[in-house]
Amino acid sequence: VRADELMDIVSREKRSQMMAGIKGKNTKPELVVRKLVHGMGFRYRLHRKDLPGSPDLVFPRLKKVIFVHGCFWHRHPGCRFAYTPKSNAQFWSNKLDGNTKRDELALTALDALGWQVLIVWECEVSDLPALSRKARLFLEADQC
Ligand SMILES: [Zn+2]
Repeated sequence: VRADELMDIVSREKRSQMMAGIKGKNTKPELVVRKLVHGMGFRYRLHRKDLPGSPDLVFPRLKKVIFVHGCFWHRHPGCRFAYTPKSNAQFWSNKLDGNTKRDELALTALDALGWQVLIVWECEVSDLPALSRKARLFLEADQC
């Protein structure tokens, strides 16, 4: 299946969502998370390529990272946005499985290097108080 054929099968709205996912950088949920933790006084670096999975936010002093994951692209378990499109199901299944596998490898590698990881899902960004608590718990927790 060619890429342009695939793109024809999705609605225009969905397409722009998906393109944002493909681009992967500076998408809106990520901006929300950045602003939130910045407001809490935490300073971070962005997309460090030298770390497994190129985490979205990196807190070098704390040795912690945050990934902001799109529910569709990263298959948020149990999430209604994490569906497999019915057309070209095999293509999508392979593609999304590949993403999930890469994510798992990155988490394992980060863990082995002593980094703590928080994953923020796109669908969590709409509940700012909850997200705020989650981020604070993660960033303020002591390292052991
Ligand atoms: Zn989700």
